[in-house]
Amino acid sequence: MEILNTAAALHAYTENARRAGQRIGLVPTMGALHEGHLQLVRAAAQECEVVVTSIFVNPTQFNNPDDFRLYPRLPEEDAALLAPAGCTALFLPSVEEMYPQPTVVRFDFGALERVMEGEHRPGHFNGVATVVSKLFHLSRPHRAYFGQKDFQQVAIVRQLVLGLSFDLELVAFPTIREPDGLAMSSRNRRLSAEARALAPQLYQGLLLAKRLIEEGQLTPAEVQQTAAEFLRAEPAITLEYLAVVDAHTLQPLTDWQPNAPVAICLAAQLGGVRLIDNVVVAVNE
Ligand code: AMP
Repeated sequence: MEILNTAAALHAYTENARRAGQRIGLVPTMGALHEGHLQLVRAAAQECEVVVTSIFVNPTQFNNPDDFRLYPRLPEEDAALLAPAGCTALFLPSVEEMYPQPTVVRFDFGALERVMEGEHRPGHFNGVATVVSKLFHLSRPHRAYFGQKDFQQVAIVRQLVLGLSFDLELVAFPTIREPDGLAMSSRNRRLSAEARALAPQLYQGLLLAKRLIEEGQLTPAEVQQTAAEFLRAEPAITLEYLAVVDAHTLQPLTDWQPNAPVAICLAAQLGGVRLIDNVVVAVNE
């Protein structure tokens, strides 16, 4: 596996592969890798001869300086996991390499970013779109792999690909969970033992909402309220939001629509660590 530290090296590596007729898969990450990331790398390796995994803790997508400072950084451990998963090149740039000058370009994804993560983390998706665009331009992948764990991010990147005519296929994979249901996340490493023990309740809250939706007795607002109350009953969990939304538009639902999938998304803090999770429910009426 090659380790590339500069934008020029990434560009040269992927252009070479393109000229040789090889397919390029890109897996953008922020590192502290776990099974959620590695499934993306393995899938890319099945479909592409060249697999680039980027590890870059992107400052422009953090609105909380402590979250950025404390984000786990484990490049050696990560590199050891990537090669066996089929990664052919690890792109590990510095902040200066990715941002030789501050970007003044701004993205606006309209209604898609006025809810949930976009609403609660101002500027977050601007940072995501900036770094993802840079990675797409530098490596010109045939396929780019993302996780449904970041449900709204997938919708934003899909809009980015369409809006700017990036010539690539976006591939999304389901959320990988710990045996107790907690969605795998690099931030889980920062949870205290007490917070880690409580964290699976987030998924329990989502499953409660899913069950209520499937039972079909409550309105979206009632489902939202019941699941939020369940989570707020635990004092160690600070729920930022729990939203029952249309899985395509991500807008809050006022009523159930026949055959339109619903997403239940949440963000919560446990002991100073911010976690997100979601489940998607098919509603049949
Ligand atoms: P991150 O390093 O958190 O920015 O994540 C990099 C990519 O891995 C994103 O596309 C995430 O959605 C995806 N990912 C992170 N955690 C999981 C998970 N538990 N299951 C599936 N995909 C994940």
